[in-house]
Amino acid sequence: MPFFDSQALVPQPNFDDRDFWASCDHRLLRFQCCALCQQARHPPMPVCPHCRSLKVGWQDSCGQGTVFTFTVVHHASHEAVKPKLPYVVAVIIPDDVSGVRWVSNITDIPSEDVHIGMSVEVWWDEVMPGRFVPRCRPLAAQALKK
Ligand SMILES: [Zn+2]
Repeated sequence: MPFFDSQALVPQPNFDDRDFWASCDHRLLRFQCCALCQQARHPPMPVCPHCRSLKVGWQDSCGQGTVFTFTVVHHASHEAVKPKLPYVVAVIIPDDVSGVRWVSNITDIPSEDVHIGMSVEVWWDEVMPGRFVPRCRPLAAQALKK
């Protein structure tokens, strides 16, 4: 069962982020980068904010990162999130792609135990058949499961 059980919360790729979501569907986390100056960026966008180039590349990530900041959501903005309250929305810094911060949920841990600087890793939430959303869990929790 998906973390948020609602088709209304399934990502709807657009022209700019469709390649990002296509990678996610293969359970590959990768970030757009500039093919000219090599700066990574997220979310995907048509123009490099550093050098204005239209040339696009991609940089794979191992899916491990560090919590830069986070918030604990206690109020349901959608009916489908009510069963998960309180849940965590965090800004993650990938360990292996510099210049990027991305937003994800942190699961598999009580919200009061989440802290800035904690190590997390991606797990793939199959929100509909063949459509995966990257969410994060504590790195240590994975180590305990192995
Ligand atoms: Zn550039």
